[in-house]
Amino acid sequence: MFLQRTLFGKTKIDGIGLHSGAPVSITLRSAPPNSGIHIERVDLKDRPSMTAHFSNVNATARATSIGNEYFSAATVEHCLSVFAALRIDNAIVELNGPEVPILDGSALPFLEAVRRAGVVELDEARKYFFIKKPIRFEQEDSYAYFVPYSGLRVTCTIDFPHKVIGRQSVDIDINEHNYANQIAGARTFGFVKEVEALKAKGLIQGAGLENAVGLDDEKVLNPEGLRFRNEFVRHKVLDALGDMITLGAPVLGHLVLYKAGHDLMNKFVRKVLESKDSYDIVELGSVLEPEDQDKLSMGLALQNFK
Ligand SMILES: [Zn+2]
Repeated sequence: MFLQRTLFGKTKIDGIGLHSGAPVSITLRSAPPNSGIHIERVDLKDRPSMTAHFSNVNATARATSIGNEYFSAATVEHCLSVFAALRIDNAIVELNGPEVPILDGSALPFLEAVRRAGVVELDEARKYFFIKKPIRFEQEDSYAYFVPYSGLRVTCTIDFPHKVIGRQSVDIDINEHNYANQIAGARTFGFVKEVEALKAKGLIQGAGLENAVGLDDEKVLNPEGLRFRNEFVRHKVLDALGDMITLGAPVLGHLVLYKAGHDLMNKFVRKVLESKDSYDIVELGSVLEPEDQDKLSMGLALQNFK
């Protein structure tokens, strides 16, 4: 049986907020089975918390925010992406400000933090969304769809009219090894013209070349250059995994994305949940009914997947 996982110890990460530019810290710690991922504002009275569930997503412009009129946890997706890739089902993210620190703009510092804390299995089976039939959502010229697959695979394509970016694709089976080596280090990116306009409006005060890949009309401005030739599309996969965790359980399926962003992903997650004829909720490796033998054999084939 594939069991739910949580963190073993707790670990603190200090940084600055992308929007405020002010110092902020998060502490990642364990949570009991079936509790999901909670974000707790430890700086507010009575330490309110919200789950990282798509119904609590209240902003998707440039980053994903969890919140309501009394609560805000912005830019959660890079931290959530690590939980998704490492199958952390339950955790508490303590946050002492309105946004998760941006750090270097990638998920690598969160991955290192989770590895420092360690991961343990809990005595409760994990449930998966097992995709049986295609589920598709499209918006303008962007789309996202799932088709059946024996694991979690992401194929992502972006197309930016920019010399350095252009059309890029990546196709990857998501497991800890692949994620750590090919996805976690990919940084977010921004165009100088847009960054300057947003800064003038009082937004993204913390944005800089230490926490993003910056581009002018011609080139990458970071003196260290890119971490991957196609770092941009790899970061889109990173973001998409963070947004997918808001579904509430991991998916067994092949996710195909074209020009996806946080808004598209939030709508797609809702579409997936609504498409009840297209998925089953399953536990893997447990005793299944005879007609579910295909799921059992898939579970056995997924020993490297958990
Ligand atoms: Zn991102």
